Amino acid sequence: MGALNECNMLDTKVEKRAIPAVEQNGAPNERNVLDAKIPSGPIEQKWDRCRFDMKLVNPANRRKHKILIVGSGLAGAAAAATLGEQGYQVHCFSFHDTPRRAHSIAAQGGINAAKNYRNDGDSIYRLFLDTVKGGDFRAREGNSYRLAQVSVHIIDQCVAQGVPFARDYGGLLETRSFGGVQVERTFYARGQTGQQLLLGAYQALEQQIAAGAVTMHPRTEMLDLVAIDGVARGIVARDLRTGAVRSHVGDVVLLCTGGYSNVFYLSTNAKASNCTAIWRAHRRGALFGNPCFTQIHPTCIPQSGEYQSKLVLMSESLRNDGRIWVPKKKEDTRRRANDIPESERDYYLERRYPSFGNLVPRDVASRNAKEVCDEGRGVGPGGHGVYLDFREAIGRLGLDNVREKYGNLFEIYERITGDNAYDVPMRIYPAPHYTMGGLWVDYHLMTTIPGLFAGGEANFSDQGANRLGASALMQGLSDGYFILPATVPNYLARAKLERVDTSHAAFREAEAEVRRRTQALLKSDGRRTVDSVHRELGRLMWDNCGMARSEESLRRALGKIPELREEFHKTVRVLGTEEELNQSLEKAGRVADFLELAELMCTDALHRTESCGGHFRVESQTPEGEAKRDDANFCYVAAWEWKGADRAPALHKEPLTFEHILLAQRSYK
Ligand SMILES: Cc1cc2nc3c(=O)[nH]c(=O)nc-3n(C[C@H](O)[C@H](O)[C@H](O)COP(=O)(O)OP(=O)(O)OC[C@H]3O[C@@H](n4cnc5c(N)ncnc54)[C@H](O)[C@@H]3O)c2cc1C
Repeated sequence: MGALNECNMLDTKVEKRAIPAVEQNGAPNERNVLDAKIPSGPIEQKWDRCRFDMKLVNPANRRKHKILIVGSGLAGAAAAATLGEQGYQVHCFSFHDTPRRAHSIAAQGGINAAKNYRNDGDSIYRLFLDTVKGGDFRAREGNSYRLAQVSVHIIDQCVAQGVPFARDYGGLLETRSFGGVQVERTFYARGQTGQQLLLGAYQALEQQIAAGAVTMHPRTEMLDLVAIDGVARGIVARDLRTGAVRSHVGDVVLLCTGGYSNVFYLSTNAKASNCTAIWRAHRRGALFGNPCFTQIHPTCIPQSGEYQSKLVLMSESLRNDGRIWVPKKKEDTRRRANDIPESERDYYLERRYPSFGNLVPRDVASRNAKEVCDEGRGVGPGGHGVYLDFREAIGRLGLDNVREKYGNLFEIYERITGDNAYDVPMRIYPAPHYTMGGLWVDYHLMTTIPGLFAGGEANFSDQGANRLGASALMQGLSDGYFILPATVPNYLARAKLERVDTSHAAFREAEAEVRRRTQALLKSDGRRTVDSVHRELGRLMWDNCGMARSEESLRRALGKIPELREEFHKTVRVLGTEEELNQSLEKAGRVADFLELAELMCTDALHRTESCGGHFRVESQTPEGEAKRDDANFCYVAAWEWKGADRAPALHKEPLTFEHILLAQRSYK
């Protein structure tokens, strides 16, 4: 059992083992090695043995500990409800007016679990394998295995809460298939899975709020992290209704604040999703893992105008039955889709990937859509679209069955485009959707700042360089219901924390910094709106650090982002005051952070000269145009350290080792 001692989280600190500086593309200025503290022993036993070795907190002592949780989406609400139920004093913060408005509510397609209810060859090991392969071998084996293990409990937990998963005629839970796999392991509630799961977590949270175990702070935005002697001890937050800036002290801080796809301005994320909480923590010392790993989802409604502010997802579940095609001939792109005969259509995914067909992983489907559109075979305005066609499915399953499975998605599509997709094919195009990057965390989900944990999409996640569909809800709920409620108490049981209050100099300094930043944004007397700068940043990122990236495009972006940032701070116009509800001020603060994060994303993308998953460097592709990894040089997690506003960030590496899965070129043929 000696290996179990590896679970002692207080040993988790950034190992500052400086390796001689090797400048690589001008990005990193030092190289340090990170230890993820993955327990040794057989992979099937790592998590159980680790849990067994965890220290517990006596029930009578739990109420003495105050836990601050920022975020009440799936990860945050699940963690708050569970830790509240265990008896801790939980304070949960959200900038939304209710936990039900978290972006998680938008998730459509489903949640994976290795239940093997279909008896189609699924197992924990297969889900583990699919996740590591889907992530193009840039995820940790230990974490991915644990995620697959826990997945089976998540479904039981949610069913017990009353989540109305789809069921078959006999009453058994239904499943469907998602990209990158050949089994049907995705549980769903029509096209509203996130909504139903969030309502389940919300009910559990409300129960703890009513019991007095959780104090909810809605409409409160965390704007800084407070660390004392290098240990997280609290946050500074702004009451969005009154503008009051207040400090909150705790024994531990959890960030479950979602992803940062809105750096691209146009994305499928909720408009308010942002990076501020994790970026502020990064500036206070938490390393940022794989910032350039972003996911571009293949099935979104194409952009239709310059002033559009949001993109809408059409769930991946549609690829179960919808067939993707473009006309074989460029001249046919203006013809009505239904007039193009079968023999003149190119079902390019089925042609190129016969084993997986339309259900290849997202990165592969997105790149192929871009490729056929770049060839001039895209359909719709600007040629930025491919067809997703249900004609064959309606013929095979009947209209009523298709309506029952996907009805609300067809309705969303019709409301936005005016087209009835039962009659004409949908038009879809890739769009920014999910971020695999985030705060670097060890096996316990603790960041490099002791006492600061990150869960859900906010951490750099178990997904590697590409997330498989329906695995984000799985990860958020795994973190929230199962992992954090075990690892946070273990930390509390071991930590020796002095009593502090908000009069401590570190809180005073952080509050002053928050006020200084707010006032600086209000003082600027320029002409540009926050949105106009954000839109420009988004376009810059999409063009240069989007679906395809090259050394040239990344250097171009790295030249322009600092200029845009400077222009923002000089010329942005934020109306109103800080002592009132001021959404333009809120937005300005978030865009200021996106302007810094964008630079780190490009730095990371530039240094990683290989392609992997969603990170496609045009210089590194196979003869067939697939992502070509460079395992000899890049088989690691890149975790970046903030060194100051005008200094290059420092690169730390967590080497990835593969003992169970053979590193291989991914193939979905
Ligand atoms: C349209 C769409 C459909 C999707 N469908 C699926 C699907 O079918 N299956 C799947 O597995 N995944 C899906 N995903 C991905 C999945 O929904 C997300 O990854 C997941 O819901 C993220 O949950 P979370 O708890 O980490 O964060 P979120 O749900 O984004 O919650 C973040 C929380 O943090 C709070 N917050 C953030 N910053 C601050 C701050 N500074 N101060 C205070 N509070 C803050 C917010 O108020 C919110 O409560 C989809 C994503 C999109 C965009």
